[in-house]
Amino acid sequence: MTIQWFPGHMTKARRQIQEKLKLIDLTIELLDARIPISSSNPMIDEILKGKPRLIVLNKADLADSRTTEQWIAYFNKAGHAAISVDSSTGTRVNEIPVRAKQILHEMIARQISKGVNPRAVRGLIVGIPNVGKSTLINRLAGRHIAATGDRPGVTKGQQWIKVGTEMELLDTPGILWPKFEDPLVGYRLAMTGAIREQILNVEDVAFFAVKVLAKRYWDATSERFGVTEPPKDLEDADEIVRVMEDIGRKRGCLISGGRVDLEKVSGIILRELRSGSLGRISLESPEDLLY
Ligand code: GDP
Repeated sequence: MTIQWFPGHMTKARRQIQEKLKLIDLTIELLDARIPISSSNPMIDEILKGKPRLIVLNKADLADSRTTEQWIAYFNKAGHAAISVDSSTGTRVNEIPVRAKQILHEMIARQISKGVNPRAVRGLIVGIPNVGKSTLINRLAGRHIAATGDRPGVTKGQQWIKVGTEMELLDTPGILWPKFEDPLVGYRLAMTGAIREQILNVEDVAFFAVKVLAKRYWDATSERFGVTEPPKDLEDADEIVRVMEDIGRKRGCLISGGRVDLEKVSGIILRELRSGSLGRISLESPEDLLY
C-alpha cells in the first residue's frame, strides 16, 4: 500500500494524531531499524508537542545488529529512550511496556503519592506506512485486532487494547508521512520495499542499493552474487554500473549482443536485498549523517 501524500492529507493525519494525543500518556514511535532516519517524520517533534516518546526500531531481524546498537546509542544521546524489536516474531516486544513505565515514572510516582492505585499507562503507536504498526499492535495485544467497526455492536471510535495489566494502547495507530522531498529518502524507502519501486526507476533504486552494499557489505555481496571486483571508486557511477553488470552476467541477465539487462538484474538485486538473502543489512548508519 502506498499513500499519496498531499498537503491536505498531511494536515488531516496530523490532526488525527493530535486528537489522540489528548487521550494518551506516551507515544511509541516506530522506525525501520534498517533506515531509522528515512523512515522518520520530518515534523515529529512539532506534531508530538512534547508528549513523552519511546523510539522503537522495528524489523531489527533484517538490520545489522551492530548498526542497530549504534542507532540506539545515537537516539539515547539525543535524549530519547530507544529499543529494537522484531514484531513479526515478537522478539523483545515485552520490553515496550517496561520501558514505557520507566519513561512515565514521575507520573506514576505522583499517583502513588496521592494514594491512588496507578492506572495502566496509555500509549499510541505512530509511524509511516509499512513500518509495522499493525503487526506490532497485534503482537502486543496477543491476538489479531479486528478493525473497529467490523464487529456488530462495536461502534466506530477509539478502543483500548490491554497489554498485560500495566499498559493500554489505542487500537488505531497514528499514520505519519516520510520526508519524501529528499530523493535519497525515497530510494532508501524503496530499497526496503516501504514504497513501490515503480514510483521510482528500478535501476536507480538498485544503483543506490549496490552503492550501499559495496560500501558496507561487500563480502556478503561478493559471496551472494559471485562477483569479485569491488568498485574502484564509490563516487564513480560507471563503476557502480559495472558491478551491476557483473552481477547481471553471473545471473544470466543478458539481452541481444551480450549486453546486460540492467532492469532485470536490478529487480533481482532488490528482491534478494529485501528478502534477507544477503544477510542482515542496514541501509543507514549514524555515520552516514555526516555525508
Ligand atoms: P503498517 O502499515 O505500519 O501497519 O505495517 P504492517 O504491520 O502492515 O507491516 C508491513 C510489512 O512489514 C508486513 O509485510 C509485515 O509482515 C512486515 N513486518 C512488520 N514488522 C516486521 C518485523 O519486525 N520484521 C519483519 N521481517 N517484517 C515485519
